[in-house]
Amino acid sequence: MNYRHEYHAGNAADVLKHVVLLLLLRRLQQKPAPLTYIETHAGRGRYELRHEAAQKTGEFLRGIARLWDRRGAAELPPALADYLAVVASLNPGDELAVYPGSPRLARAALRPDDRMIVCELHPAEAAALRDEFRGDPQVAVHKRDGYEALSALLPPTPRRGLVLIDPPYERPDEFAAALAGLQLGARKWPQACYALWYPIKGVASSLLHAATLRAGLREVLCVELRTRDDRDPAVMSGSGLLLVDPPWQIDQAIGEVMPTLARLLQDDPDTPASARVEWLVGPR
Ligand code: SAM
Repeated sequence: MNYRHEYHAGNAADVLKHVVLLLLLRRLQQKPAPLTYIETHAGRGRYELRHEAAQKTGEFLRGIARLWDRRGAAELPPALADYLAVVASLNPGDELAVYPGSPRLARAALRPDDRMIVCELHPAEAAALRDEFRGDPQVAVHKRDGYEALSALLPPTPRRGLVLIDPPYERPDEFAAALAGLQLGARKWPQACYALWYPIKGVASSLLHAATLRAGLREVLCVELRTRDDRDPAVMSGSGLLLVDPPWQIDQAIGEVMPTLARLLQDDPDTPASARVEWLVGPR
């Protein structure tokens, strides 16, 4: 396990993933019944952007930093303003110094009766995640394999909810394992919505889509943002999410923020960033 998210926190892929995550939670919360939020690959929960790892790659400069100065701007789509307000709540001054990992972002959205279960396998990351939520009665932190946790923990109580699967794609079989996780989840906890994050690099994401079509899932929305050209199959040109059984009209809500994300996160002066919001399977 070599992957450390601190090198990548706040990059363009995180921005897309976290904007969609917050939108999913807000939509699910339009119904008053409480929900359970589960993460299989949670990371440490918060990232210091002044630390060496973030400074070394500078990835956040091509991600969250491009949106930071727009916070509070009147023309911002409400979902982006909502996401930036959560990031700003960790950065009380003007400087962008801390970036919330998905567990911290999700925690900011939970209502008093909602629950959160977060899994992380790396010992140091899991310890930091435990510290992040120590004493928080709404959050359970597990140091365990996220895929194994899906077998063990589903279905949880409350029965409504959302699962985020956000693996590091270090294993050669990670795409297949992640899709198997979606299938297992949809079987064991069919009332939930699932979000799977993936990188767009070479042909792997097209193969994932083809496999998803054969996976027997009810409804799958594909959300992708490409911020650079795809000439080099070894370089990530963007990232995407597969949303299984997402809340009603989420495609429209996501569609409203994608043009702004594409405009702000374009990474290649010669290739305009492009967005895709499309049903692979379904919808109802
Ligand atoms: N979801 C986080 C966020 O958005 O802030 C980022 C997670 S990062 C992409 C993937 C994490 O999965 C890493 O922290 C890594 O240590 C952890 N990990 C790797 N294999 C795992 C496994 N089998 N089960 C649980 N966590 C794992």
